[in-house]
Amino acid sequence: MAAEVATFPAKYGRVPHLAVILVGEDPGSVSYVTGKAKASAEVGIRNTTIRKPADITEVELLDIVAGLNADPEVDGILVQLPLPKHINEERVIAAINKTKDVDGFHPLNVAALWQKQPCTLPCTPKGIIKMLKAAGVDIAGREAVVVGRSNIVGLPVAKLLLDENATVTVAHSRTRDLGEVTRRAEILVVAIGRPKFVTADMVAAGAVVIDVGVNRDPESGKLCGDVDFAAIEPKASVITPVPGGVGPMTICCLMENTIECFLRGR
Ligand code: NDP
Repeated sequence: MAAEVATFPAKYGRVPHLAVILVGEDPGSVSYVTGKAKASAEVGIRNTTIRKPADITEVELLDIVAGLNADPEVDGILVQLPLPKHINEERVIAAINKTKDVDGFHPLNVAALWQKQPCTLPCTPKGIIKMLKAAGVDIAGREAVVVGRSNIVGLPVAKLLLDENATVTVAHSRTRDLGEVTRRAEILVVAIGRPKFVTADMVAAGAVVIDVGVNRDPESGKLCGDVDFAAIEPKASVITPVPGGVGPMTICCLMENTIECFLRGR
């Protein structure tokens, strides 16, 4: 991507520009926003991070979004989630111009995804499919189980796996006998936010395991995923580590989405 972006000033007069809005000082959000700025610098994308206090009003935040929508030199807008409780996240996301929605969370992008129309794909699910393909995993016809059904990970990754012709099961907190379901998986994607929740007995030998979770291990205090990596790694055919797997891939896809938004209409 860096090599591609380096050609843009000569071709288009400038590089892509990503605007990130950070509200408050939640340590997780601060670290994600810092990671996004660092990746932008590596790729040569211009990054503006707008930091606002947690007591900003929704109207003030919507004004900032409107200003970025109207700015022809801004190609991508990302509002770091979660937002403070007094702000309606859905209203803020819907206020972003669909063509600048680099996260792919705008309702029109979500609708387009489910209708198989061209759209900006959400970064984490997009990265997961890219990783599976890069690792040479055959998706078509495989049994895929997605644990978690959030709008940002579980549901869209299930849809993308379906589009790749996997047979997809979506499990969640009300699933009866989760282990029985996850053991059927040839491709297992876990996005629940519970440290080391998926144990070795819940995974079939040879399974491909994608661990989306980012948690603090209550014992060591270190970052860990939703699956017990040490116990499952010998059993799985391929497995993503935490940190170092889905997270960096998500940021790569954010960079790619920013470039796509920049190039659209050029
Ligand atoms: P949410 O909290 O929005 O959703 C969690 C999902 O997991 C829900 O669907 C919930 O079920 C399900 N779940 C919770 N507990 C269980 C359980 N015991 N058994 C089965 N299912 C369960 O989380 P997100 O999807 O936003 O995030 C999930 C994890 O992924 C988090 O750790 C987050 O930090 C991480 N993440 C990482 C990213 C990255 O780039 N690496 C990007 C985004 C998220 P129900 O619907 O029934 O409540």
